[in-house]
Amino acid sequence: MSHLLGNLFILSAPSGAGKSSLIKALLEKYQSDSCPMQVSVSHTTRAPRPGEVDGQHYHFVDREKFESLIDAKAFFEWAEVFGNYYGTSRVTIEDTLSKGIDVFLDIDWQGARQVKQQLPEARGIFILPPSTAVLHERLKGRGQDSDEVIETRMQKAVDEMSHYDEADFVLINDNFDDTLEQLYAIVNAARCEQRNQQHRHAGLIADLLDKKSS
Ligand code: GDP
Ligand code: ADP
Ligand code: 5GP
Repeated sequence: MSHLLGNLFILSAPSGAGKSSLIKALLEKYQSDSCPMQVSVSHTTRAPRPGEVDGQHYHFVDREKFESLIDAKAFFEWAEVFGNYYGTSRVTIEDTLSKGIDVFLDIDWQGARQVKQQLPEARGIFILPPSTAVLHERLKGRGQDSDEVIETRMQKAVDEMSHYDEADFVLINDNFDDTLEQLYAIVNAARCEQRNQQHRHAGLIADLLDKKSS
């Protein structure tokens, strides 16, 4: 996959830690022609929450359709989370990266592990909440899940968080703006890595080296 030009970022965190809000804010604040970024829209068998739009938040499909996509090898990674299937479309990721657009995946640890195996240069970023109590408050405050669903997600949170050490970066999402700046710093640093700059500024580098040798 060395032909890929964009960077792939994997965001993992327990539900409610702030992944979706951080990715949304990052794109709103920093998306530009010189810094193209896109969030990957997963397929899921979970029912849409109020306000969720098909094709925008997720591609909502039934289990039969999801399983046919697994058989067709349409997923870059897929996993079962909270009793529902979730998966990332292979063709969308490859097309977007090959256009030089950075892609963000909001996926669970099982998916993160599969992505790292296939694409070791993908950067894993784990978002932790500042405390268990705050995580609970955020899940309640979001007002989108029933008490029962919130309790299941709190129980799963410890399991999800125990995989923090598989990520390359760990951010503690206490103050939102501080965490957003840290996230942007990671994205920016990745863009400045030598292999990326070599592609992006091929003309300039050729020019500079030519002049130097003349
Ligand atoms: P959230 O935790 O409030 O963001 O709830 P969601 O229902 O949006 O996500 C549920 C879980 O599925 C989270 O752990 C996500 O990281 C994970 N998830 C979402 N999309 C994908 C995907 O495409 N692949 C995998 N493997 N996991 C995903
Ligand atoms: P996730 O995508 O990880 O499940 P969300 O982005 O939906 O989490 O965030 C959960 C809730 O917590 C949302 O209501 C969001 O506005 C809020 N939130 C996220 N980060 C912070 C923060 N640093 N401080 C306060 N509230 C936050
Ligand atoms: P929610 O149902 O709250 O939208 O998502 C629950 C969990 O599923 C979150 O932790 C989210 O990151 C994860 N998730 C969402 N999409 C995917 C996906 O495509 N693949 C994987 N592996 N996990 C996903």
